[in-house]
Amino acid sequence: MASKRHVNVGGVQIGGGAPVIVQTMTKTETANLSATMAQIRKVSDAGADVVRVAVPREKDVEALKTIVADSPIPIIADIHFNHTLALKAIDAGAHCVRLNPGNIGGPDKVAEVAVRARAAGTPLRIGVNSGSLPKHLHTLERDNPVEALVGAAVEFVELMERLDFTDFKVSIKSTSVPNTIAANRLLSQRIEYPLHLGITEAGTKWSGSIKSAVGLGTLLADGIGDTIRISLSTFHAEEEVKVAWEILKALKLRERGPVLIACPTCGRLQFDMDTVVADIERRLEDYEDPIEVAVLGCAVNGIGEASHADFGITGAKNEGLIFSRGKPLRKVPQDRLVDELFKEIDAYAKTRRIVVDDKHQAEGAEWLARIEAENAGDLTPERLAALEKAKQAEEAQALPASISPSERILLDETASPTDGRRFTRA
Ligand code: SF4
Repeated sequence: MASKRHVNVGGVQIGGGAPVIVQTMTKTETANLSATMAQIRKVSDAGADVVRVAVPREKDVEALKTIVADSPIPIIADIHFNHTLALKAIDAGAHCVRLNPGNIGGPDKVAEVAVRARAAGTPLRIGVNSGSLPKHLHTLERDNPVEALVGAAVEFVELMERLDFTDFKVSIKSTSVPNTIAANRLLSQRIEYPLHLGITEAGTKWSGSIKSAVGLGTLLADGIGDTIRISLSTFHAEEEVKVAWEILKALKLRERGPVLIACPTCGRLQFDMDTVVADIERRLEDYEDPIEVAVLGCAVNGIGEASHADFGITGAKNEGLIFSRGKPLRKVPQDRLVDELFKEIDAYAKTRRIVVDDKHQAEGAEWLARIEAENAGDLTPERLAALEKAKQAEEAQALPASISPSERILLDETASPTDGRRFTRA
């Protein structure tokens, strides 16, 4: 459940009902000021609300002072094992310090950090990792890793409360997606502190993004989690930020920049849509408006399910159509489709109006109608889906309320052929 408490990390509220905060971690040597600051600026531009830097050595804590002063977003210092560095990071002005109370040298050292943090008004992130649970939980970890993780987190929370320190958020990290989901669900019922979500060592951009979307997306959809970090094996920390935003945008938890909708393509495609989509996606990164932009590989379906998009294109071999909110704007030669689309988007960004030229709109509508008519008999994926939806709605209406959906009549071959597909109704 959403955390009741919150922390304030350099002016950014985390928890207590605030929007889910995006964070990442720099991959540079922290003491390399120019490289670290360059990466911080990049992740900030990509939409990171806060950023963590590793502070494993004295020279990193020295650099921290400059980083905190120059960073456009709040800085979290990541400390392991050495409580002295935690104290120094607080003195250096870090907006938050991340530590694992289990590996910092015992309760006395945790207490020392808590005293210093309280005096400075610096919140802490206390973390539990599946790889570093306290010894007394190792047997439980073998039998029930979720209970062990949650047990360790609750023990740390109780330790902080005994120290009269409550200005913290909590993270439970595991490389297992199911364990991360189960542990955070359980923890959210046991404590009221803000939760930091992440899948440890999630993997490459491809596999790590999917694991994170499944794990964090499931929790966020349940209303659990106050800040997220996507851990990807890439030097480009801004990629982690982009993935985090896609997850939040997909769940409609936050808005940032355009949303791209693109058809999966099929055998009707007559142009290099892969390149077009990649080009549009890259160019949209420069825009801040949360507009929806659709790319349809062919006009056989008309504008169809993309009719709600603020702007869209649909293509054929030589020509394509630019449309907006369900209506054609104009047809353009295929090779100018993307540039002309961006002219429309730019004009909208300046004027907040979508300008319609009646003559061009009529030409576009005529072109679209012609292509639709020429392909009227085609059962495209979209038409098939629409037919199935309509048929199901019709049948649901006709059925007595006592008949459950699973007992409804299957579609026949006219409405939904199975020839060439991976299943049959015979
Ligand atoms: S039929 Fe649908 S999936 Fe196939 S290219 Fe056209 S819009 Fe894309």
